[in-house]
Amino acid sequence: MNNEYIPFTIGKQKRIALIAHDGKKQDLIDWCDKNKEILQKHFLCGTGTTARLIAECTGLPVKGYNSGPLGGDQQIGAKIVEGGIDLVVFFSDPLEAQPHDPDVKALLRIAQVYDIPMANNKSTADFIITSSYMNTEYVHEVLNFKQNIENRVKSMK
Ligand code: PGA
Repeated sequence: MNNEYIPFTIGKQKRIALIAHDGKKQDLIDWCDKNKEILQKHFLCGTGTTARLIAECTGLPVKGYNSGPLGGDQQIGAKIVEGGIDLVVFFSDPLEAQPHDPDVKALLRIAQVYDIPMANNKSTADFIITSSYMNTEYVHEVLNFKQNIENRVKSMK
């Protein structure tokens, strides 16, 4: 069905979510500091501890949600669903078990569903931050959630 997807525009000014597990927080702080000039042109938010540390260490304004293990990842996931996040930089720690692993997986999944660019390590984040799309609008095809409900309801009647 051709109306299964609808075009969505990621604006020139991006709404960027920043998240790092404890073992990766310093890496993300350093990355933000290095890319400060670019990041200050965008709106930044993040999970509670990550947001606070980045703001204090780099001087960048970062809106903080709850801490990750207390639902911060879910809050960011919900923002993605509402169309309020354009890009996620999530330095997860592959060598450390996380108490909120289901929330982490849910965030990865919902970013995929809504075709949101997401970097989960430094090299990917470097590729994204230097992309020409950082300075322009980007139109992408996102699942048409209203049509999706219509189709599901129709198929179940
Ligand atoms: P934190 O949460 O920024 O509050 O540490 C990050 C996470 O573990 O998801």
